[in-house]
Amino acid sequence: MGLIFKIIGFFWRVIWRLLGLTLLVLLLFIAFIYFSNPTPNREASVSQALQGLVARLDQFFDSQGLHTDLTKNVQGLTDQLSDEHSKMESGVRWEYPSATIYIDTQNPTFQAAYQTAIEAWNQTGAFSFQIVHDKATANIIAGEMNDGSVTAAGEAESQTNLLTKRFSHVVVRLNSYYLMDPQYGYSYERIVNTAEHELGHAIGLEHNENESVMQAAGSYYSIQESDIQAVRSLYQDQVSKPEKVNQI
Ligand SMILES: [Zn+2]
Repeated sequence: MGLIFKIIGFFWRVIWRLLGLTLLVLLLFIAFIYFSNPTPNREASVSQALQGLVARLDQFFDSQGLHTDLTKNVQGLTDQLSDEHSKMESGVRWEYPSATIYIDTQNPTFQAAYQTAIEAWNQTGAFSFQIVHDKATANIIAGEMNDGSVTAAGEAESQTNLLTKRFSHVVVRLNSYYLMDPQYGYSYERIVNTAEHELGHAIGLEHNENESVMQAAGSYYSIQESDIQAVRSLYQDQVSKPEKVNQI
């Protein structure tokens, strides 16, 4: 009995000492920043330094998690949405279920994956992408990135007219850092699924938790019937672009 209390007591003291030490280091850190900066900026610089410290700790723990559980953390992620307004708003779409797209990558695997994904969406009949060769006028740019600091296999970035809730420009990217590195185990099929997923965002679809190309984690599904329905209902008031009226 006495031994157990001794052990508990020992760990208790160790924990308190570690806590005390951490606080002391933190206080010294704050004091150092405070006194090493000119008077008017003292508060601001302390707050800035603390924010920097927190961000760095966050990064440290993130990177630890990534390395210790590489496959689980990275393979599970399809993408990350980065948007000027932080999140894609619900109901945001193009005026008509069609858009021009420019393939902006020299990577042959990504070029092929985008082409396959574009054909797959076009086959659904719910939305049509038209590949163009003029980057400046394309509605959507399909490019690539090589970024290990984000835990995302792809991303979609949109500019939206907030009044009309219509896209003005969308950029999607496939992340070669994960998709092209064999240790992350992405098959060509999953790269195509990722491309279909990002194009889904470019159409205006959001994530869901079902068996869907828009499932946030995985890239295990291609376009499903439910995805086609989601596009149809998003564009239900605009079935197709009005044809030019023939003038006789
Ligand atoms: Zn996504």
